Amino acid sequence: MLRHLRRAAFQLQQSSGIFRWVADSTWRNNRLLILCYHGISRIDEHLWRPGLYMQPEIFRQRLQILQEGKYNVLPLGEGLRRLRAGHLPPRSVAITFDDGGYDFYEAAFPILKSYGFPVTVYQTTYYSDYQKPVFNLVCSYMLWQRRNHPPRSGKEFGFSEPLDLSTESSRARIVRKLILDAEASNLNGAQKDDLAGRLAKHLDIRYDEIVSSRILQLMNPFERAQLAGARVDFQLHTHRHRTPIDENLFRKEIQDNRQSMRPLGDTAIHFCYPSGIYRPEFLGWLREERIVSATTCDPGLVSKRSNPLLLPRLVDTAAHSAVEFEAWLTGLASLLRIRRHAPQILPAAAGSTSQIKSHLRSVVEEEARKG
Ligand SMILES: [Zn+2]
Repeated sequence: MLRHLRRAAFQLQQSSGIFRWVADSTWRNNRLLILCYHGISRIDEHLWRPGLYMQPEIFRQRLQILQEGKYNVLPLGEGLRRLRAGHLPPRSVAITFDDGGYDFYEAAFPILKSYGFPVTVYQTTYYSDYQKPVFNLVCSYMLWQRRNHPPRSGKEFGFSEPLDLSTESSRARIVRKLILDAEASNLNGAQKDDLAGRLAKHLDIRYDEIVSSRILQLMNPFERAQLAGARVDFQLHTHRHRTPIDENLFRKEIQDNRQSMRPLGDTAIHFCYPSGIYRPEFLGWLREERIVSATTCDPGLVSKRSNPLLLPRLVDTAAHSAVEFEAWLTGLASLLRIRRHAPQILPAAAGSTSQIKSHLRSVVEEEARKG
C-alpha cells in the first residue's frame, strides 16, 4: 500500500517538475548516488532470483534514464575524491556491480559500453580462478528448475524426508543443509562441484550443459584482464565471498582477493561488504589493509559526512519502477526515507505544487545545513 502510494506520489512530483527541482538543489549536488547491481540475466536467472538478476532491457532503460536526465556518471574513485574536495559535478552517480559474474562480461558490459558509462566491479575471486558454477547458487537454481515436479527422495543427500521443491522456503532449507554439510565435511571446490553434479543427476538435469552455459559462473582471469583493458575498474569483494569475524581470516580474505587481482595492477583500494553484512570491528581491519572506501547495501546518498568505510548504496532491482528509480536519482526518494519528512512530502495529491515545493524547500534546506 505504502509502495503504491509512494509510486503515485512520485508520478505527480515528476510531472509537476519537483523531480527536476530536487535534482538541481545544492543538497543533491553535494551528494553522490552509488548504484548497486548484481547480475544481468542471460537465460532465466531473473525469474529465479529477481532480487539479484535484472533483465537486460530494464538495465538498458536505467542507463537511458541516466543519459536523458543528464546525470554525471563518474568512476567510483573519482566521484569519492571530488565529493571530498567539494568539486562534485551536478547530479553525480557511480555505477557498481557486485561479484563479477560471467553475465557482467557478456550481458552488462556491452550495454554500459554503448552508453560510455564507467563502472566498478567488486570482484570476488575464488570462483573466478576456479571456473565452475558457484556451489550454493547452482544448487538453488537447479532445485528451482524442478519446482513443479513432485517431491523426490533426499536420502542420498542425508535428508530423511523427500525433497519438497515446491516453495522458496523449502528449497532454501535444502540448500542451507547442503552448504552446512559441505562445510562440516570440509569439502574443497572440486568436491562441492561433484556434489552439485550428483544433485543435478538426481534431478534429471544435465550438469555438463549448465557448466558449459557458464550460468552462475564468474568472469575468468582472462576476461577480467580484457575488461580492465577496456577501463572497467576492478575492486575488492573478498576472495571467497565471506567476512569471517576473526581478524586474521578476515584480512586473509582481502589479501587473497588482492593477490588474485594483482595482474590487473595495484589499484584495488575500494571494498564492498559481501551480502552487505558489516560489523564495527571490520572498519579497523579494513584500515589496516589500506582500504579507502567500503560500500554497504544500506540505501542512501553519500555526503561529505558519510563514513568512508560505511558508504550507502542503492541496490537497484526490477522491483523498482522507472519512476521510483528516477526518484532515487533526483534524491527525493532518499529524503522520503528520513521518516519525519515523509508525511510532508508523500501526500502529493493533497497539496498544490507550490505547497509541496515550499515543504520540500524547508526539508532540503534543513538537510543541507547538516552538511
Ligand atoms: Zn556479492
